[in-house]
Amino acid sequence: MTFNELNLIAPILQALETEGYKQPTPIQEQAIPIVLRQHDLLGCAQTGTGKTAAFAIPILQLLHAQHAERAHRHIKVLVLTPTRELAIQIGESFAAYGRNLKLKHTVIFGGVPQGSQVQALNRGIDILIATPGRLLDLMGQGYIHLKDIGIFVLDEADRMLDMGFIHDVKRVVAQLPHKRQTLFFSATMPPEIQKLANTILVKPEHVAVAPPATTAELVDQSVFFVDKKDKRQLLHHVLQDPAIKRVLVFTRTKHGADKVVKDLHKVSITAEAIHGNKSQNARQRALSNFKDGKIRALIATDIAARGIDVDLLSHVINYEIPEVPETYVHRIGRTGRAGASGIAYSFCDNEEMPDWRNILKLIARSVNVINNHPYPMAATGQVKINPPKNKEVVERPNAVPGSGARQSNNRRNGNQRRTW
Ligand code: AMP
Repeated sequence: MTFNELNLIAPILQALETEGYKQPTPIQEQAIPIVLRQHDLLGCAQTGTGKTAAFAIPILQLLHAQHAERAHRHIKVLVLTPTRELAIQIGESFAAYGRNLKLKHTVIFGGVPQGSQVQALNRGIDILIATPGRLLDLMGQGYIHLKDIGIFVLDEADRMLDMGFIHDVKRVVAQLPHKRQTLFFSATMPPEIQKLANTILVKPEHVAVAPPATTAELVDQSVFFVDKKDKRQLLHHVLQDPAIKRVLVFTRTKHGADKVVKDLHKVSITAEAIHGNKSQNARQRALSNFKDGKIRALIATDIAARGIDVDLLSHVINYEIPEVPETYVHRIGRTGRAGASGIAYSFCDNEEMPDWRNILKLIARSVNVINNHPYPMAATGQVKINPPKNKEVVERPNAVPGSGARQSNNRRNGNQRRTW
């Protein structure tokens, strides 16, 4: 299917061409006609599927058809999203797809002074993208009225629940006009989210795309078994590959993220961390520097990174293996966006082996094991190849399940990769 077949107007088609989009993603193919028919929608889709465009494109088209550009500027569309990063990315999407239209939008979120946000609101906008806390705050101060909202989008509803925002969401919904179109997106549908959907949607049409585990199929995944103490060196080694132009590195903790940044700086690799202890501004700056190519590595914890959307992110490195297997899928889903292929490396130490096995069970596919690296896990008996100076080549008995005969065969065949 093409965007043309979705009956989109010329200015939007041109914008999509400028963006380099060749064809709609499955969620776009399904959702755009429903939204254009002005039906309520329940979309089961996570970030990375193209869901933002699935609602932003038809919303822009509907507003344009209603001559919104010529009408008095008041907020006609509200998009509620859980994090500042997502809010900014959604704002960028409206700007990109609406570049040839004259509709106005603004993005508001907490953690920064409200002055410039209030100014933008006062100038008049058609579309408001907001996180719940700042929205309620500015509503309380009388800067925002929701009485003219014709379309309400609730984005990442399950994350709203995870992050403790569900009551704020309900307070916002209570202020919306009853007569409106509602688009509800959630990656998962826990009972509380299903209940919320039932209360705010009217005869919704349902669309669902690839459950999280299948996203992993787009990504070329490899694992390095390595001792914990050698991960730092292994990261330097891996980053010697010039093909890795931009890499997102995941750690389990904020402290761990800061430590990786320091280690990379020592070997002159540009890096910044993004995690909950950083101020909103520092996080945003790090993200922009990363997007603009000013830094090569962005080191992130899971909470901070979920939802990060960077075009052309070729590599993700799991410096530490996540304890929750689904987190692995979310992490590697930062690359391989909207059908593009990406590469994910995981550094797994002995203690993390049970977590790694759980991940393999979840994704139900094989992952390449990279044996030819200079820091193999001592217990696995992998040969040290290109060892650092003054270190002898050692071979030890195998301790990693399944790494015995196949591994020696691989070595004999000169094949240093095998599947798990
Ligand atoms: P989302 O799921 O909305 O976070 O989108 C994920 C990424 O896919 C973003 O970087 C979009 O720019 C990109 N994208 C969305 N739709 C398309 C499309 N039809 N073709 C190519 N890339 C797309």
